[in-house]
Amino acid sequence: MSLHLFYGGTFDPVHDGHIAIASFARRVCDADVYFIPSADPPHRQKPLATARQRADMLRIAMSGEPRFFLDLRELERDKPSYSVDTLRQLRAELGSEQPIAWLIGADAFAQLHTWHEWESLFDLAHFVVAVRPGYSMHSSHFPINERICASAQQLKESAAGRVFSLQCPLRSESATAIRHAFAAGQAPNGLNPAVQAYILEHGLYPKAL
Ligand code: ATP
Repeated sequence: MSLHLFYGGTFDPVHDGHIAIASFARRVCDADVYFIPSADPPHRQKPLATARQRADMLRIAMSGEPRFFLDLRELERDKPSYSVDTLRQLRAELGSEQPIAWLIGADAFAQLHTWHEWESLFDLAHFVVAVRPGYSMHSSHFPINERICASAQQLKESAAGRVFSLQCPLRSESATAIRHAFAAGQAPNGLNPAVQAYILEHGLYPKAL
């Protein structure tokens, strides 16, 4: 069976690290990748760019990439978008047998126990965890040893519940660092030039260059 990979995030703004990780996961997992920008993340600061602007930037950064899709379901909801609600909706649409995986950075995965109804997440999807400089995917809050699978191929053998560590080349980009660079009047690292032009055109981040 094929694997559907969903990549949730604030993408405020999308950077080259996001695109590199998604490309690596697409190849290693042989999967279509659906980017799902979040509307109003309950567990972090409000994004600075509007939902529409974050989606526009994603569209620009993804353009021309095969097997990349933009899924705007969380932006179209009028209440806080919890990942568990999104996964329940996807599960209902795709059926109980379809392998589904959530692509996530190691920093975010280690905080999974802070997510709304986090224990249900493993019943709904696999996790593909991208290594991130300075972070370990292991958390003292939930053991994952029995869930780990050695190859991405194994993710296609069941619908949910496994964890695959994606050993992609480390990417140092961070959206926070990019926003700070703009605020300090410095050139940001790891930003698609067309996304940077969009940021400047719309004056998105304070003191944008
Ligand atoms: P911030 O720096 O503000 O936390 P971010 O760069 O992590 O933002 P998000 O939109 O929050 O951007 O990230 C979406 C997902 O991508 C998260 O699961 C995050 O862990 C992952 N991710 C983002 N940047 C990297 C990176 N450089 N390496 C690995 N994973 C990353």
